[in-house]
Amino acid sequence: MLQSQTVTEIDIESLLESVRLPGIAGHRALGRLIRLIDDKSPESGKIDSLVRSSVYRAARIGLTGPPGAGKSSLISASLQYLTLLGKKVGILAVDPTSPFTGGAILGDRVRLSGPVTDNVFFRSLASRGEVGGVSRAIWPSSRLLDWWGADIIIIETVGSGQLGTGVMDVADVVVAVLTPEAGDGIQSMKAGVMELADCFVVNKSDRPGADLIGRELNMLKTEAENAGRSLEVFQTSAVNTDGIDNALDGIRDMWNRLNDSGQIHARRLKQAGRELATRVEAKIEETVKARLGGESEFEKTIASYAEQIMSGEITPGDAAKNILGD
Ligand code: GDP
Repeated sequence: MLQSQTVTEIDIESLLESVRLPGIAGHRALGRLIRLIDDKSPESGKIDSLVRSSVYRAARIGLTGPPGAGKSSLISASLQYLTLLGKKVGILAVDPTSPFTGGAILGDRVRLSGPVTDNVFFRSLASRGEVGGVSRAIWPSSRLLDWWGADIIIIETVGSGQLGTGVMDVADVVVAVLTPEAGDGIQSMKAGVMELADCFVVNKSDRPGADLIGRELNMLKTEAENAGRSLEVFQTSAVNTDGIDNALDGIRDMWNRLNDSGQIHARRLKQAGRELATRVEAKIEETVKARLGGESEFEKTIASYAEQIMSGEITPGDAAKNILGD
């Protein structure tokens, strides 16, 4: 078993080769590689390095919305349509509400019913309380799924109240899922959402109130278009598989338009920069903590400077310089 091996014993190249095996063997190898990435194992750099030449092919669709809006149901329903079209789909779910499913193998399948074939791969990532609800592992995991041959990568994140901002850092196109019950909230979340979502999907449109929220969103769409930004609104019922094909076609068209206008490229450049900056920041933090003797020593140093700041002995700026050894 892989788990009992030390990380240095894992042969990443042959694991990558195994991904090409049909059926469960290929999926299992892919799952192991993603787990190594998610666990931030020392091997994750090697995985990234070996796949890096073919990692920007797939369309990356971010799906965000409050718990219970029907994201999983929508993904399930979408898979039926997409696999019929012969598409290969990778799904990465970042779910801070259920951190314990992060490393689970079978747990991943519990919430998702529908076809799990060679062309569909699903995995939950632990968000580990990182900023914006998106784990840092999302970037290399997406690259791996791209290398695997995904045509579409769906990145599912939970946005509570405010939408999950982190998804913008990895998706080409952001789709926000709402329900008729969210009607009252539209005006209040307007400002943030305008910059965030490219598409709104009003799911559970089999329920009362769907038309009202649809009208409100269409007004938002007009406002966005007047401001030179495109926004699409779709209505779906995941349980009745209503409107799914229409929404997927619309999202595909939007991706194509953004790609033709160079915006997908521009977003990806920004994301690559963001990933790099995040890594640099993490490395600096790690170095400083190591120099001070570890996490708990770091906390103690912070606490002791906090006392000195309170008593006026030092400014926060000077304390930071001392800690950094400037
Ligand atoms: P998630 O937390 O956003 O992934 O939401 P789920 O997909 O788990 O769905 C939450 C609940 O809403 C489940 O009980 C679904 O059966 C139900 N649900 C999902 N889509 C629809 C829909 O279109 N109409 C109705 N009436 N219920 C739905």
